[in-house]
Amino acid sequence: MDKDKIKIIATIGPATDSQKEIEKMLQEGASIFRLNLSHASSSYVLKVMKILNKAKAKLRKEAVLFLDLPGPKIRTGVLSGGKLGVKAGKIYSFGPRGDISVSAKIVNSINLKEKILLSDGKIELKPLKRSGVNLLVKALNSATLLSRQSVNASGLVYEAKYPTQKDVAGIKFGIRHGIRTFALSFVSNKEDVLRARKAAGKDSVLISKIERKEAVDNFEDIAKASDIVMIARGDLGLNMDIARVPAIQKKLILSANRLSKPVIVATQMLESMTTEIMPTRAEVDDVFTAISEGTDAVMLSEETAIGQHPALAVKMLRHIISLSKITPSTMNYPAIDERDALIDSAVSLIKKTKINDAVVLTKSGRSAFRLARFHLGVRIFAISDSDAVLNALEFGRNIIPVRIKKLGSYPAEPIKRIMSENKLRRLILISGLETSSRSTESIRIIE
Ligand code: PEP
Repeated sequence: MDKDKIKIIATIGPATDSQKEIEKMLQEGASIFRLNLSHASSSYVLKVMKILNKAKAKLRKEAVLFLDLPGPKIRTGVLSGGKLGVKAGKIYSFGPRGDISVSAKIVNSINLKEKILLSDGKIELKPLKRSGVNLLVKALNSATLLSRQSVNASGLVYEAKYPTQKDVAGIKFGIRHGIRTFALSFVSNKEDVLRARKAAGKDSVLISKIERKEAVDNFEDIAKASDIVMIARGDLGLNMDIARVPAIQKKLILSANRLSKPVIVATQMLESMTTEIMPTRAEVDDVFTAISEGTDAVMLSEETAIGQHPALAVKMLRHIISLSKITPSTMNYPAIDERDALIDSAVSLIKKTKINDAVVLTKSGRSAFRLARFHLGVRIFAISDSDAVLNALEFGRNIIPVRIKKLGSYPAEPIKRIMSENKLRRLILISGLETSSRSTESIRIIE
């Protein structure tokens, strides 16, 4: 195992929806797979689940599959003839009765001082002035606009309630088929997450995608209400000034680490490998930066969904991770409660004894995440009896989830198995059973 095990998430799409490709990605070190419900139909999800289960069984590997829910993405309307040739410098009406149609609510929430981006940023529009129910905008570049393309601008008010009907249908469908982990697109605040939690039930794992300015502003509250956070840099770079994204990434990773919440850095990590066999130097640097800033996981999108070299992209990520010798975090995270203080003692014990492995008994996963954020490079075997918690644990840096039937105060058998399978002489056992006020937290060295 690499000294620092950053988790790799691969998006499955047409390039990888076969057992052969999924097996290759598993072998190269992807342990989490994403299906994007903006593109994947129910039958496609079922097909991929079946293939993934076969691949996992064949290779005897564990992996988590999660559904990325579409969220309230704003799109332009249908164009007569299906397309519009937008010309740089030309004025268009934008609104309910415009050349480019969007609802009045969207028009009213547009900030006239900021650009509007269409079709994932391929078309830039400069708002000029309001004209009845529409807005007059000037095209800043020439391109062809198709029907139902994305609209991005800061401060847009979303019409649909969060989660949308489509999101709830996706959650229900996933749960019916044993999927517990869902990514929430375009959340704005903690209420969005709490309402999604209500729809998904408490035995689910919610990943909040931070891709709007509002979500950046409300990050702490969103992270506290979520199990995991994702810095979704694609839409974030369209909804905010792209030049702000690196600093936001750094700040949010630090904040997620402080809160002991696993954090994913997503989008364009190795974009050029969608077509090329080698990444650019800047991409390698980007991966290294995310790792050194403290991310738990890195995600591939187009690279594995539609790319020409999906397994090679996973291999390259693993290679960059393995050579990214990150020094342990010197952060002194303020202990928010007694459990944090307990983990602080474990950290000090690990540093002083040079023991390289820890076993954490965890009911909610929190104790393992509290330890993982110190990036000590120790393997953290996290034992749990809950499927949802085991799913969440897979996202944590250096965490190896271990399933047992019923969590007790000293699961002798699994500990013995971990020690013999990994040839360990000593390990640190942290019992962080955060169940009740009478829970017994303890740290022990097991020989
Ligand atoms: C993103 O915008 O960066 C992202 C991960 O979301 P999606 O791939 O769904 O656009």
